[in-house]
Amino acid sequence: MPKKTVEDIEVKDKKVLLRVDFNVPLNINTGAISDDSRIRASLPTIKYLVDHKAKVILCSHLGRPGGKVIENLRMAPIAQRLSQLMGLPVSTAADCIGRKVESKVRTLKEGDILVLENLRFHPEEEADDTNFARKLARLADIYVNDAFGTAHRAHASTVGVAKYLPAVAGFLMKKELEVMEKLLHNPERPLACLIGGAKVSDKIELLQNMLRKVDMLLVGGGMAATFLKTQGYEVGHSLIEDDKLGLAKKLLQETKEWGVPFLLPIDAVVVEEIRAGAPTRVVPTTNIPSGSHIVDIGPQSIELFCSELRKCRTITWNGPMGIYEIPQFAQGTRSIASFLSTLNATTIIGGGSSAEVVQEMGLTDKLTHVSTGGGASLRFLEGVTLPGVKVLLDKK
Ligand code: ADP
Ligand code: MG
Repeated sequence: MPKKTVEDIEVKDKKVLLRVDFNVPLNINTGAISDDSRIRASLPTIKYLVDHKAKVILCSHLGRPGGKVIENLRMAPIAQRLSQLMGLPVSTAADCIGRKVESKVRTLKEGDILVLENLRFHPEEEADDTNFARKLARLADIYVNDAFGTAHRAHASTVGVAKYLPAVAGFLMKKELEVMEKLLHNPERPLACLIGGAKVSDKIELLQNMLRKVDMLLVGGGMAATFLKTQGYEVGHSLIEDDKLGLAKKLLQETKEWGVPFLLPIDAVVVEEIRAGAPTRVVPTTNIPSGSHIVDIGPQSIELFCSELRKCRTITWNGPMGIYEIPQFAQGTRSIASFLSTLNATTIIGGGSSAEVVQEMGLTDKLTHVSTGGGASLRFLEGVTLPGVKVLLDKK
């Protein structure tokens, strides 16, 4: 890991501003935290700071308040959950910058934990406003970023603040970066990249970057239809990005030049109408009825993908194989998830939806790594240096 971490800096008795990604899903009706894994993911860093007698000042965004105060996006319930998980008292502040917060910070003792109010209550956060960043920095002596899930965004709390304080990575950030760096630069081979999800446009850069690194590319999900169409197949009413056909064709050509096997589904689950309970049919992808939509990969594709993936030592998976939100169309996605969990290979899950599925199926512990950052891991695989990582201190 080329970046400094909390272990490379003296934190004792220091005020540490710790940027975490506590943007947890909330129940729409009750406002309760429906999944606290993002809070749990940062516990090692928080525990380390408490054990090493730092004064811990946590900051995060929650939801999309759009630069104003939204009562049900306050951080208090999250601070409460953190307190339960830590078994320690956690205090909150009414804002994330300003006089009152500064005086509250002055009362902190070694090992105390304070959670600042939602960063995105201020429009300056997402604008990476210099003044706002400076006000955040004024609260602390050291900045630690553990918010991998937000590291692809150049905001005041992820980028701006690092100009004013020594900036290092937390343990979650470190783990995410180490996994991704190994995947990109020195994976155990063969390496396969399995991509799904809705759109080619979302994943084209990832495919372009990864095709130079992988031993095998597999594409399922909605985006497969665009690739099938460029090969001259009928895809009915399936989701197609006509303006991406050229790019898809070029990509297919490049995989040939690089000698990378490129696998598409050989059969598909189709429906006349996308809705729960719609009658389904399994058809070969060479024979998609003109009036139908592809909603999942078929059983033969599942078998083909699994038998190819079985040959690999490292597999990265990003994006569902079908419209998994409708249980009837989730078979492809769920079968791939279960299959990956049985392998003895390195398995890395990126992508918000794919991570959600493996979590919901209780498979997280059987996979090597499930990223906490869908967007950030996507950018990483595109070969982009994440702005929130770039600003951290280099080891040498
Ligand atoms: P991830 O978050 O894992 O990166 P994406 O955001 O790219 O995945 O895509 C997720 C979406 O792709 C899901 O909402 C899913 O319904 C949709 N999807 C998957 N397969 C299809 C398909 N065949 N047709 C339409 N949408 C699809
Ligand atoms: Mg997504």
